[in-house]
Amino acid sequence: MRAKLVKDILSESPLSQEVKVSGWVRTKRDMKNLVFVEVNDGSCFAGIQCTFDLSRGETASSHAALAALNTGASIEIFGHLVASPASGQAVEIAADSLRLIGEAPSENRTADVPYLEIPAYPLQKKRHSLEFLREIAHLRPRTNTFGAVARVRSRMSFAIHQYFQERGFQYIHTPIITAGDAEGAGAMFQVTTFNIDALAKGRNRETGVNYAKDFFGKKTYLTVSGQLEAETYATALSRVYTFGPTFRAENSNTARHLAEFWMIEPEMAFAGLEDDMALAEDFLKYIFNTALENCASDLAFFDSHIEKGIIETLTHVVNSRFAHISYTDAIAELEKAAAANAGLFEFAPHWGCDLQSEHEKYLTEKTAGGPVIVTDYPKEIKAFYMKLNDDGKTVRAMDVLVPRLGEIIGGSQREDDLEKLCKRMLDLGMNIEDYGWYLDLRRYGTVPHSGFGLGFERLILYITGMANIRDVIPYPRAVGQANF
Ligand code: ATP
Ligand code: MN
Repeated sequence: MRAKLVKDILSESPLSQEVKVSGWVRTKRDMKNLVFVEVNDGSCFAGIQCTFDLSRGETASSHAALAALNTGASIEIFGHLVASPASGQAVEIAADSLRLIGEAPSENRTADVPYLEIPAYPLQKKRHSLEFLREIAHLRPRTNTFGAVARVRSRMSFAIHQYFQERGFQYIHTPIITAGDAEGAGAMFQVTTFNIDALAKGRNRETGVNYAKDFFGKKTYLTVSGQLEAETYATALSRVYTFGPTFRAENSNTARHLAEFWMIEPEMAFAGLEDDMALAEDFLKYIFNTALENCASDLAFFDSHIEKGIIETLTHVVNSRFAHISYTDAIAELEKAAAANAGLFEFAPHWGCDLQSEHEKYLTEKTAGGPVIVTDYPKEIKAFYMKLNDDGKTVRAMDVLVPRLGEIIGGSQREDDLEKLCKRMLDLGMNIEDYGWYLDLRRYGTVPHSGFGLGFERLILYITGMANIRDVIPYPRAVGQANF
């Protein structure tokens, strides 16, 4: 008999049918002649209760195994699915027998061979700090919190593909190794097959490193964004998106930045900034709505144990209209607020400055009272490819800011005018020759086009209410951290 997933068992009607479940023990409780074992297999938030009635002859063969059973042990239970007399669960398993697959000792097991010593199972039934769980990232998916995060990540990945696929966007696999710096930000990881240790010993100190001899014949990096390559496909297939890993060697040790994160980047031809903003708003609402509808029990857990009110926040965003404000007006609002309350901001806002988290927070929570899209930023603080406005000072950029998190999406209309784009790149001291392929899009059949980038982990942070981005990806990579 094949074991069924707990998720499927819980949706069945209890007709005393035979079932087999396999999973890990979450709790075991004894009550007179009854032993309750809660089995979790991660297929959904809930586990299933298996009740052993020791006075029934069928359970006799399992008494020894039951007595030795610990939290974390892997087991198989056979029994019948019955209506549960307990509150909070519709069904439970009236268990006949138990097979212990792997133990998880609750006390240290010493052995003659050191490798065979087994420390007690670290996830004993109690609350563990998220910091501690980060150190055992290989075991943390067995906890309620990280199981829920993993399921939400999975479901949201599916929703992202679903959203774009149903709207005529083609999924493009942009390269992970690139020769260019899409953002012009410089925070890139180099990719090389050179022996760095040998280089460091100084063999090439005089001559410099000859990258023509490196694997790719030039200097290469891990991508910071798939956008430029996505643009090449958008100007052929009209609507495309990428959804893949991106890498930034940012030395910012914040709760919102990772060195390796996943990014969603749609790109649309024949589309301006208005279309881009409409897409961003519609997309976020769709994703949040999918989470509310399809991850209800996981979200209920986050709402009660992680961040009170997240369900209400998500519902509010789904039902709100995103406010729009130009960067110039936003700065004016912030300056006004700063003038009225001297201690309000750590960084004084002024035209030309990048918006700080505290500014973003103010704009969403005070000015707009909800999500807000800030547009038309000074060109100096945005990437080279953004379309220059007629004022010659600002670009057709938009950032979507949400309460609690700040920036969740950054996007723009791209410069489709060959001359303006070249001029901007030269002003920035960029090597135009390296971007010949990118400029070709403006030489041949150029077209207004727009897109945005959304950090997947930022999205998951927002949906789950988790506070640290390191806790919404299985194995976080950040400054000084690349374990597992
Ligand atoms: P921030 O100001 O927060 O560093 P950014 O302006 O560098 O963001 P973009 O270059 O516009 O961000 O990247 C697009 C999106 O990717 C951002 O809106 C954000 O959701 C996400 N993102 C950017 N950097 C990181 C990072 N280091 N870790 C996780 N997500 C990130
Ligand atoms: Mn950044």
